[in-house]
Amino acid sequence: MDADIVTRVLVTGVTGQDGGYLTERLLDEGCEVHGLVHHLDPAADAFAATHPQVVIHRGDLGDHTSLRQLVSDVEPGELYNLAGISSVAYSWEHPVLTAELSGVAAVVLLEAALAVQESTGRPVRCVQASSAEIFGEAAVAPQDEDTPIRPVSPYGAAKAYAHQMAGIYRSKGLHVASVILYNHESPRRPTTFVTRKITAAAARIGVDGTGVLTLGNLDAQRDWGWAPDYVDAMVRAARHTVGDDFVIASGTPHTVAQFAEAALRRAGVGDAWRDHIEVDPALLRPQDAPLLVGDASKARRQLGWAPTVDFEELVGRMVDHDLALLRGEV
Ligand code: GDP
Repeated sequence: MDADIVTRVLVTGVTGQDGGYLTERLLDEGCEVHGLVHHLDPAADAFAATHPQVVIHRGDLGDHTSLRQLVSDVEPGELYNLAGISSVAYSWEHPVLTAELSGVAAVVLLEAALAVQESTGRPVRCVQASSAEIFGEAAVAPQDEDTPIRPVSPYGAAKAYAHQMAGIYRSKGLHVASVILYNHESPRRPTTFVTRKITAAAARIGVDGTGVLTLGNLDAQRDWGWAPDYVDAMVRAARHTVGDDFVIASGTPHTVAQFAEAALRRAGVGDAWRDHIEVDPALLRPQDAPLLVGDASKARRQLGWAPTVDFEELVGRMVDHDLALLRGEV
């Protein structure tokens, strides 16, 4: 890889979980990081304060003209598209917005990246943050890069469109990696995701010795990994010799119930963990991808990628963080 190409990087969705970890990684490498932030993003000011080296661009993924202009002004060597609607649950309430921000905006960025590449003669290496949700009700488990795309949520459908357009721009000569990310978590997850909802509640129950954790589908299975590992995969995919699709996953599924058990035990509740869980049918989803588990052997083989944090460690880190928060230690 030519080191010169990569000094300037544009990251959309920079204030999100992955955006933060990616930014910190790129800054450590000495990159000049430009971040797109929605002008109404409540996290924008805090992010700017904690990441003063990042050049923040306020804008809106739905404003195509400004988005194109941004890519043209920054002329990035790498472009990571992490922005969009990040929650499947939210996408059911806002399907049109999800299509616009998680689907169409990705294509605007690819189009703009190709234009920059053609006008400057320098490659723009793009990474599209795709999602396991594109597989939806997958007929096979584990899924890999050849598994048929069959989304069952508005989020999955929007991501599927962006994923397929990534392949189309690849055939037009752009280096585009589409990383098919399975669920990846960290203490930076908001509590709208079940993992952080569980760890925040488990910590509270652990400290108080009382309380309940109200959940929806306890049997849903997910392949949960450690977010910084998934960011590492994105960087490797950007710098690989060719743009390609890569499943990024731990390969080991767990149920929501298993996550809750591990979290409550970590918080010190012991065998009484069951007494602290209740199910609210209102939290069940109209359609829920039943078993998403990924086979990341291609990424392991071609990118030299491997997860560094397993399930127990992931749950432990999240619960410990929430306990420390409650104790005012962080
Ligand atoms: P997703 O896989 O991107 O939708 O991530 P989530 O963390 O939102 O959901 C993961 C799984 O947990 C899904 O199958 C949900 O149906 C299930 N789940 C069960 N109870 C809850 C809950 O209380 N909140 C959320 N967000 N998900 C829940």
